[in-house]
Amino acid sequence: MSDPAVALVTGAGSGIGRAIARRLADEYAVVVNDVDAEAATETAVEIEQDGGDATAIEADVADHDAVDDLVDRTLDAYGRIDLLVNNAGIETVYPFTDLPEAEWDRVHDVNLKGQFLLSQRVANEMIDRDVAGDIVNVSSVHDVLPRTEKIHYDTAKAGVLMLTKDMALELAEHGISVNCVAPGAIETPMNAELLDDPDEIERMNERIPWGRMGKPEEIADAVAFLASQDATYVTGSRLCVDGGLSLDP
Ligand code: NAP
Repeated sequence: MSDPAVALVTGAGSGIGRAIARRLADEYAVVVNDVDAEAATETAVEIEQDGGDATAIEADVADHDAVDDLVDRTLDAYGRIDLLVNNAGIETVYPFTDLPEAEWDRVHDVNLKGQFLLSQRVANEMIDRDVAGDIVNVSSVHDVLPRTEKIHYDTAKAGVLMLTKDMALELAEHGISVNCVAPGAIETPMNAELLDDPDEIERMNERIPWGRMGKPEEIADAVAFLASQDATYVTGSRLCVDGGLSLDP
C-alpha cells in the first residue's frame, strides 16, 4: 500500500482548525500545528483514537524560524507535504482611533505574514519534490466586508484574499492549487464571549439568512472539497461559507 498523503493544518488545536484536521484525517496523515502544544496534542490524540495518523507540532506561525522548524519536522516525519491549510488566526477588538501599532503588527503577523511564511516554504518543498499539491487559506467574510473595531483583523484577511489569488497565479505552472475559504460567524472559542450570551446569539442569528451560526465542521467540509478530486480545476477562488450572512450584512 502506498503512503498516505500528508496534510499540515495550522491552528489545529481549537475550533475550525481542529475540525479541519479531524475531517482530513480520513484521507491524510495530518500534522496538527498550534501555538498551544497541549491543544495540538489533544487534537492529535482524538485523530489517533479514531484510527488516523496524526503528529502534533507546536509552532508560532508568525515566527520565521519556528515555521522552518515546523516544516523540517513535518518532512522528517512524513517526507512530503501534499496539502497545507493556513488556518491559525487571532482576532481582537479596538476602535480604529485607539488601535495600538503593536496590536496591528501582532494581528497582521499571525493572520497574514504567517500564511505567507508557511506557504512560501511549503510551496518550495512541493516544487522541489514535484508535488502538485494544494494550499487552502482560511480567510473571513470580512476580507471584503467592512465593519467597525476590527480594522487590523479585516485588513489582514483582505491580504489573505489577495495572497491566495497571487499565489494561485504564480504556482499554477507547478500544478499547485491555492484557494481560500471565507467563513461567516462560526461556533468556536474565538466567539466565546458571544456564545456565552443568549441575547447576542439571537441577535447574530437574526442577521444570518440561514438563521444560525455555522459549525466548524461546515468549514472543514469546504476545505476538504477544495483539496479534493472534486475541485481539480479550482484555483485562486474564494469559497464563502456563511449561511448567507454576507448577502445582506
Ligand atoms: P480559535 O478557536 O481561536 O482557534 C484558533 C487556533 O489558532 C487556536 O488554537 C490558537 O491558539 C491558534 N493560534 C493562534 N495564534 C497562533 C500562531 N501564531 N501560531 C499557531 N497557532 C496559533 O479560532 P477559530 O474560530 O477556529 O478560527 C480559525 C480561523 O478561522 C482563523 O483564521 C479565524 O480568523 C478564521 N475565522 C473564524 C471565524 C469564526 O467565526 N470563528 C470567522 C471567520 C474566520 P490560542 O488559542 O492559544 O491562541
